[in-house]
Amino acid sequence: MRSTIKKIIVVGGGFAGAALIRQLASARENDVEVTLISEESYTTFNPLLAEVVGAAVFPEHVVAPLREFTRGARFVMGRVNAVDFAARLLHTSSLQGPLTLPYDHLVFAFGNRARCDLIPGMVDHGHVLKTLGDAIHVRNLVLRRLAQMELEPDPDARRTLGHFVVIGGGFSGVEVAGALADVLHGICQYYPRVKADELAISLLHDGAILLPQLPEALGLAATTSLMQRGVAVRLNTSASRIDAKQVQLQSGESIPTATAIATIGTRANALTEVLQGVTLERGRIVCRADCSVVGPASVWAIGDCAQIPLPNGEYAIPTAQFAVAEAKHLTRQLLAVLRGERTQPFDYRSRGMMATVGHHKGVAELAGIKLTGLPAWLLWRAYYLSQMPTAGRKFRVFIEWTWGMFFRPDITHFRFERSVEQDKQPEVRSP
Ligand SMILES: Cc1cc2nc3c(=O)[nH]c(=O)nc-3n(C[C@H](O)[C@H](O)[C@H](O)COP(=O)(O)OP(=O)(O)OC[C@H]3O[C@@H](n4cnc5c(N)ncnc54)[C@H](O)[C@@H]3O)c2cc1C
Repeated sequence: MRSTIKKIIVVGGGFAGAALIRQLASARENDVEVTLISEESYTTFNPLLAEVVGAAVFPEHVVAPLREFTRGARFVMGRVNAVDFAARLLHTSSLQGPLTLPYDHLVFAFGNRARCDLIPGMVDHGHVLKTLGDAIHVRNLVLRRLAQMELEPDPDARRTLGHFVVIGGGFSGVEVAGALADVLHGICQYYPRVKADELAISLLHDGAILLPQLPEALGLAATTSLMQRGVAVRLNTSASRIDAKQVQLQSGESIPTATAIATIGTRANALTEVLQGVTLERGRIVCRADCSVVGPASVWAIGDCAQIPLPNGEYAIPTAQFAVAEAKHLTRQLLAVLRGERTQPFDYRSRGMMATVGHHKGVAELAGIKLTGLPAWLLWRAYYLSQMPTAGRKFRVFIEWTWGMFFRPDITHFRFERSVEQDKQPEVRSP
């Protein structure tokens, strides 16, 4: 006799998947077995990645272990490689080898990936910011550049090492530039052979105003604030090539830099390429208004990987805010389907948007109200603190932020080597 227990499998433990699991757990349905499969054992709180780059929070504080909130659900750490929609089977590679799991309902919440080839030379010489690993890498790189400057006698080489170029004037680019300004200002005193005027940050943006998603006044406020902190904001400026020692611009000019951080461009997750019968539009899975996937039955998609139509004719935007709202909506739809009820279309409007620009300043738009400076920064922190998963993590980040208001950033530069590797390569390698 076929079991009456319905198996729901969620692929991806990011903003959307983690919120869905939490919602399903609190619904406490008896006849439902929920499994979360994700590549990492934790969910990453991406809006705080720029703070990791700026050494304002410890990396481990911007992630939350998925097992802490998968209460009642099974967690499998693994990568989904293929789906047999006809047989309703999911093929996964796990720590213990291949694993095949049957499902009744399947939810895709596997996000997207950073696009590393948008600018020639970016793969070899650029640095992206998408994952916690990227943020730790850039943080270490900044500290390494200052350590290199301490030892470098040639003035031109010193200026190249001390120039940090951020490409992209959206939320991530602005926040990274602000965080870099803060960290360089805060740690300069630990590098006595590095003079403040040898350090520079340039923010390149191909549009006329920073933060194009926000009202123009806030983009202008962000520009002013960053420039007051010494960031050279270069509008209508596109990078055409990244080399080891420079970023070339489309105008023909080149900016000497050893560190180019690109916060632009995403690409579809490779998993989408093997999903037969699923339609993609601009790299996102085409969904119906209730978040069900057009094509295979009993398959749903939410978050950055999903293209969900809204009643106003637009599409849900790929932000954490929308991902969480979609997860809440999908929980209700899944429960409705299991009860034999009709599904409802997803409808959500952004509650507002905000960004930090460094030095306790921010810009925000909330329900049509525009804020700049300290109030916007406090709002940013309060909002993201409230959104952090688990009370323990909220408390840790709160303590760390408070600590950071009075003390300098931590300049510990981690080396990820085991004892057996250390003697083989005694020199300090360039990244
Ligand atoms: C630096 C940065 C700053 C941001 N700041 C903001 C902000 O301030 N405000 C805002 O609203 N949004 C922000 N965003 C966007 C926001 O983070 C995303 O919209 C949100 O994370 C989307 O959630 P998701 O669950 O769809 O994808 P993700 O959070 O990317 O999660 C996808 C998950 O799926 C897993 N996965 C992928 N492929 C597989 C596979 N084959 N098998 C198993 N698991 C898989 C991944 O490991 C990951 O855990 C920012 C993003 C970045 C990168």
